[in-house]
Amino acid sequence: MFSLPTLPYSFDALEPYIDAQTMEIHYTKHHQAYLDKLNLALKQVPDLKNDSIEGLLSDLSQVPEDVRTTVRNNGGGYYNHMLFWNMMTAPEQSKMSKELVDLFNVSFGSVDEFKKKFAAEATARFGSGWVWLVKDPGDRYAILSTPNQDSPIMDTPGTRLLLGLDVWEHAYYLKYQNRRPDYVDSWWNVVNWEEVERRAE
Ligand code: MN
Repeated sequence: MFSLPTLPYSFDALEPYIDAQTMEIHYTKHHQAYLDKLNLALKQVPDLKNDSIEGLLSDLSQVPEDVRTTVRNNGGGYYNHMLFWNMMTAPEQSKMSKELVDLFNVSFGSVDEFKKKFAAEATARFGSGWVWLVKDPGDRYAILSTPNQDSPIMDTPGTRLLLGLDVWEHAYYLKYQNRRPDYVDSWWNVVNWEEVERRAE
């Protein structure tokens, strides 16, 4: 059985960029629901060798077909949100080190070019999904997006997830309504760059 991780800050910590009400609903309702449905589905398959959520999502073929989609969607939702909370921080803590600036310069041309490409991917993702900065198993940095609650590790185990952005409407609708690009613009103010750097190491 998996459990809900503690939110590393208060619901209003990301104001004014992410509002407290969105954070509270997102964490206590949406994340909780993914977790509950995942645990319920896993009860039906007690013999899984799912020692970790990463192990489970990286090898969905071991999950019996009748619960595989449920585990994929809710296990993905459980895992993605767990990462997402830690990839954000209070605006005054959102600072990029010189090392990370260098990384973006080398891999994407500049920090601005990186942000532009990432935001374009967020806008281009039709419907619900996630945008990711990853380090692939060949140690290359890339921006990609996934539909629904899919994780890049489902297709490519060993992919390192450095940064992820939830572009489901439930992540921004209360404050930004249909304006996904405005949400993405604001979100840069609360990115936990220390966490990105830690995950890249
Ligand atoms: Mn979400």
